[in-house]
Amino acid sequence: MPSSKEPATRWAWVEIDQGALRRNTRAFKNLLGYGKRLCCVVKADAYGHGAVQCAKIMHATGADMFAVATVSEGVQLREGGIKSPILVLNEPPIDACDTLLEYQIMPSVYSSEFALAYGERAVEMGCVGKYHMAIETGMNRIGVRFTDVLEFRREIDFHRGIECDGVFTHFATADDPDGWDYRLQCTRFSEAVAAMKDAGFECGIVHCSNTPASMLDHSMQFDMIRAGIGLYGLQPCEKSAPIMPLEPVMSVRARVTRTIHPAMGEGVGYGFTFRVPRARVQVCTIPVGYADGLPRTLSNKMDVLYRGQRIRQVGNICMDQCMVAIQQTPARQMPEAEVGDLITIVGKDGDAVISMDEMARLRGTINYEVACGFGMRLEKVYI
Ligand SMILES: *Cc1c(COP(=O)(O)O)cnc(C)c1O
Repeated sequence: MPSSKEPATRWAWVEIDQGALRRNTRAFKNLLGYGKRLCCVVKADAYGHGAVQCAKIMHATGADMFAVATVSEGVQLREGGIKSPILVLNEPPIDACDTLLEYQIMPSVYSSEFALAYGERAVEMGCVGKYHMAIETGMNRIGVRFTDVLEFRREIDFHRGIECDGVFTHFATADDPDGWDYRLQCTRFSEAVAAMKDAGFECGIVHCSNTPASMLDHSMQFDMIRAGIGLYGLQPCEKSAPIMPLEPVMSVRARVTRTIHPAMGEGVGYGFTFRVPRARVQVCTIPVGYADGLPRTLSNKMDVLYRGQRIRQVGNICMDQCMVAIQQTPARQMPEAEVGDLITIVGKDGDAVISMDEMARLRGTINYEVACGFGMRLEKVYI
């Protein structure tokens, strides 16, 4: 753990393992059949890992395209020097057209109002607006309904200001690729694409597989896969873990900013939800709170790692700080901490590990949300 890279101004940070990110990206590249492309999903600041930094590493490892959730995220990539094609995974407001065209960011398209307005602006600006057409095949979130694709294309294809660079759909149940729901989405998508091609409509790059579909069903790659969570070393579901080992990219670390030995019966933190028992307890403060992605609902429920061992978080988690306790018991004598000692909130310390999955289980959510949360405010360190 090179301390020279730690942020100078705060004893808490997110550590990004660039080697792990590279190896995970390579693993997804290796899943691809010949000539097929990898679109790396870097929305929400690369699931909290830092979009520009990650995109550069992914590009160097063979990423062909990047996908984001908002136009601003696309602009951020362009301003960070990313030259690859960028796709926004939904249809932005019409007012975003100038920015899209100026930065050459492709929108997803599924309303003719948007498509035609986008084309008009492109003609006025003397360029052609590329887009990807989203197809609704069952998730009921976005896209042109699979039954309406030909009609949609007839409505917009006359326009010389737009060009279809790709067509895609998104799976709701890719963690169960043998299931009826997934198979139905596959069929609807395949048939909609075939119908458009038969009718002479350009489809460009055809894509549908997210991380779980990419790992569990190699038959739906079409021209490109869209991988997100797996690139960051997190498994999208239980089934995928044995298929392809991935290396977690993010760790969350902090240093002890202060220690105290309160007397038995004294409380800790807002509301005194922890009181010191009849034991020697050293309460250590670390500068990570709920505004950093450590949810307050985990107060008194989560562990952190200290010198390769688990210790309990105590008292209510505050906005910017929380407390952990080193408690001496007859069964376990522990060295006490000093200001500056390392605490691991997610990641490895010696033989001990706290995974994103553990934290997700504890929170009643998925690893995606845990990673995004830690990306909100903590400074990122690339090792
Ligand atoms: C987020 C997203 C992805 C990536 O999903 P992962 O499960 O992280 O691989 C792919 N496609 C669309 C449309 C998405 O919204």
